[in-house]
Amino acid sequence: MFQFMASIVSKMSVVDAGEIIKTATQCHKRPNRISCKEWIVARKGIEKSEIEWACPKCGYHGIIHGWQGTSWDFRGKMHGEIIQ
Ligand SMILES: [Zn+2]
Repeated sequence: MFQFMASIVSKMSVVDAGEIIKTATQCHKRPNRISCKEWIVARKGIEKSEIEWACPKCGYHGIIHGWQGTSWDFRGKMHGEIIQ
């Protein structure tokens, strides 16, 4: 569960608030004992930056608060340059 949330946060930390994003995290629910494995969709809140996430297939969903400043908060850590 912890890894699952960390994975969502690492993706969503650098996304603009209000945007709905398909994450690279797969749903780990097992409805009827069959792994769901749908890609989790998430949205970052505009006011409090909370991350709401949901599985479009099985309805598994939740909300993550207080992720700012954790090891998976990549804001300010991204660097890059355009070569061409
Ligand atoms: Zn699911």
